[in-house]
Amino acid sequence: MSAPASVRVRTPGKINVSLKVGPQRADGYHGVASLYLAVSLFEEVTATELAGDEIRLTVSDPDNRVPVAGIPLDGSNLAARAARAVAARAGRASAGVHLHIAKRVPVAGGMGGGSADAAAALVACNELWQAGLGTGELTELAAGLGADVPFALMGGAAAGLGVGDRLTPVPAPQPLHWVLVPAAYGLSTPQVFAALDALRADAKVAEPAEVDPRILGALAAGNTAGLAGVLVNDLQPAALELAPGLESVLAAGAGNGALAGMVSGSGPTLAFLASSEAHAAALAEALRGGGHAAIAVYGPAPGAVVLPEPDPDSAATPTHRK
Ligand code: ATP
Repeated sequence: MSAPASVRVRTPGKINVSLKVGPQRADGYHGVASLYLAVSLFEEVTATELAGDEIRLTVSDPDNRVPVAGIPLDGSNLAARAARAVAARAGRASAGVHLHIAKRVPVAGGMGGGSADAAAALVACNELWQAGLGTGELTELAAGLGADVPFALMGGAAAGLGVGDRLTPVPAPQPLHWVLVPAAYGLSTPQVFAALDALRADAKVAEPAEVDPRILGALAAGNTAGLAGVLVNDLQPAALELAPGLESVLAAGAGNGALAGMVSGSGPTLAFLASSEAHAAALAEALRGGGHAAIAVYGPAPGAVVLPEPDPDSAATPTHRK
């Protein structure tokens, strides 16, 4: 079979429905117990063959919602690192590729956008170069790129232990409807963790061993109201300390009837739980009326999907799921 001229892959952003964080470990990381939920805000990465060894990166903002100016376009971009990882694992002499990222996930927003780009680039380069790496090998490369990258490959809903990379898929048969409110600024994940450590000072904090079984039960039963009562994010007080303006947005969500509201991951994106698709649409409308950028999404959403045509601006149908 001849190699495709270009490959386009879609990957989801995520929210953490539950995020328990342990103390800082000797290696600098924090152990977590996280319930990841992939949501229908998707990144798309198109990989096109390029002669030589150049990894060229371009980024667009198809919905005019994500300020993309600050994204690194050099070798430090997670998508470029992913391409190099595939080339190295496949034993390719060169890693020439043009990666175009169509961004919908807020940058430094606590939704794992860079991780989603890395996961998409792994799958796209594997297909483009016909490298033949299996899901296990791609997942291994993903874990080497960042704690959230394996989940962006997998999608759905999953419990994450370790630094969030030890994933176990969990059943979530009913779609949950959320309203996301991205901020016009980003928060640095390491700074949010550092703020949490400072807030905890000398308090003894246990290493989280598992995701709260009430979360798993509510997801499995599609019990949205039950879920609303047990959402938790240990990083939220730290994110709110760094970005106090988020408090009024949380209050606006509650005032407009959200079942619950929380900071997504390290923030500053906020996620509000709604009881149905119609409720999410109405809540998003009300928040937009109050001057907030609000996007209605659902989750679980699928992980990496190869899309049929390399047309960055059309909403295409997936051909298959990785
Ligand atoms: P997480 O919650 O996984 O820590 P995030 O969603 O808060 O991540 P990202 O959008 O993934 O944050 O990006 C964090 C930083 O990583 C950015 O500020 C940027 O400097 C750098 N970065 C590297 N590659 C990318 C990429 N492909 N897209 C966005 N940022 C990237």
